[in-house]
Amino acid sequence: MPVSSSTPFEKLAKVSEAIMTTSKRLQKMDFAGDFLSALPQEEIEAAALLLIGHPFPRTSQRTLALDWSALYQILQELLQPAPELMNELFAQSGDIGEVVHQLFLRSGKIRQTPLFTTPLMLMEVYATFIEIADVQGFGSRKRKTALLRSLFTQAVPLEAKYLAKLLVGDQRIGFSEGMLESAVSRNLNLPLELVCRANMLTGNIGEVTRIAYSQGAKGLEKVRLRPFTPLLPMLAAQAEDVEDALRTHEVQSAFEMKLDGARVQIHRQQKKGESRIRIYSRRLTDVTTSLPDLIDLVRTQVTVQSCILEGEVLAVDQDGRPFPFQHLMRRFRRVRNVEKMVEEIPVTLYLFDLLMLNDEVLIDTPYTNRRKQLERISGTIPLVEQLIPSNLDQAKEFFEKTVQIGHEGLIAKRLDSLYQPGIRGKAWLKVKRSMETLDLIIIAAEWGTGRRHKWLSDYHLAAPDPESGEYHMLGKTFKGLTDAEFEDITQRLLEIKIEQTRGVVRVQPRIVVEVEFDEIQRSPTYKSGMALRFARIKRLRYDKDPTDADTIHRVQELYDSQFQRKAFSDRVGRT
Ligand code: AMP
Repeated sequence: MPVSSSTPFEKLAKVSEAIMTTSKRLQKMDFAGDFLSALPQEEIEAAALLLIGHPFPRTSQRTLALDWSALYQILQELLQPAPELMNELFAQSGDIGEVVHQLFLRSGKIRQTPLFTTPLMLMEVYATFIEIADVQGFGSRKRKTALLRSLFTQAVPLEAKYLAKLLVGDQRIGFSEGMLESAVSRNLNLPLELVCRANMLTGNIGEVTRIAYSQGAKGLEKVRLRPFTPLLPMLAAQAEDVEDALRTHEVQSAFEMKLDGARVQIHRQQKKGESRIRIYSRRLTDVTTSLPDLIDLVRTQVTVQSCILEGEVLAVDQDGRPFPFQHLMRRFRRVRNVEKMVEEIPVTLYLFDLLMLNDEVLIDTPYTNRRKQLERISGTIPLVEQLIPSNLDQAKEFFEKTVQIGHEGLIAKRLDSLYQPGIRGKAWLKVKRSMETLDLIIIAAEWGTGRRHKWLSDYHLAAPDPESGEYHMLGKTFKGLTDAEFEDITQRLLEIKIEQTRGVVRVQPRIVVEVEFDEIQRSPTYKSGMALRFARIKRLRYDKDPTDADTIHRVQELYDSQFQRKAFSDRVGRT
């Protein structure tokens, strides 16, 4: 695609190198600021996004849908590297960009043919990434790979390094979106809050950078919350228990049931008699197509000019009991045969927040006001059940009731709290029911990547079957350990290594770890039919012998006990 651009991509690659090389925050910002300020205005948005390693802004629905294997294929075609060399380079840096850089440097073949002497331009890279994302349908992988190959064939080694990093979405130069906000503010002498707020409202740091450089403070002040640009959700910090939540908040709070469903942000706007409604997931993905029943509901019940609502969607059985989370996800991912799914897995929407109403932005008004307005406009759609307790006993009672119904716990929301998009602060505190932990055995471990590349850090967790002597895998995790613990456990695991296939080291089943998890869910992957959701290591139990570990029967018991509270159809062995 012909794209006019005056800046070579190599310039961006060189600035990125400079930013990576210095550890000084201010210097990183100055390198970025100087680079951006020297660019023509029409290139600033693209440059800002490429600099932080995400060609598409947070609110964009574009994804490349290409992975490491496409890049691997291209490298094979262009450079034919020996597998041992690739393994060795990986082991040295653990960074795909650096591996590609080294392969290009060593090959020497690239960029010597006259055909490829036109330099790769910044806007060309940006436009090609958009084109790759937009290729859909039959044969799309081939076409996407061809587009990507066209970039690599023009790249010098340093450019290839940054193309690879963009592809895997991991820049690793120590320059995040937050740093770019600070860099723009510093370089243009603009208040940081103004830049951050514009970014929060647009969800597009590229656009914000362009506005800042072209229109300054005046331009940023004009940025408004707009329907169909989803906001990052406000999140809750953890409280120990109900008492801890009350103590931390000091002032009065509303306790809302924490429903174990999927968060949705619903945008509605009525224009010239036509109503448009879109639904976004917690990760800001547009999930409208999979939820036509909710669209109808909102269309008929929330009859206002425009609004942004937030709520939780639950899949429920005929008696209104919630199904496990995994069951609901089958609805969310669905784009074909949606009607059949609507019948098979009915969902219920519970609302809990209102961020905009008839063009009035509400995120800067207190929770009580938002909730009151929500009650007024929600029609028959239920709101998440709420209690403003006058004492600890009332709060505890409400917690017990919530857990009995099968919900996760409560979220305490300060009555005076404003809505802070993307922030996990103390204005909202979650109190969850405590789940039993399981003592499981590590049967294998994988070499980590990035910061963890020197450690065995993804552990395969299993429960023994004392009768058959088999170990049943239930999941993997690298969560929960300190650096010192990673170091220590890596040594111990290597001592009991049986063999290594690719990055996976199989070990003797000797080390016991205490594992926390959110839920035991049904799994088609593992032989036991069960898997742990969000497993994390609570403690290393070197004090425990493998014979002390929880057996697969215990796991089955816990799994079954979940269904005393939850609906049944997701149980192992049933469909
Ligand atoms: P967590 O994922 O544990 O950090 O908890 C935050 C999630 O709880 C949110 O993203 C929502 O999906 C969910 N949630 C359930 N009920 C509520 C509620 N009443 N208010 C806010 N979030 C809720």
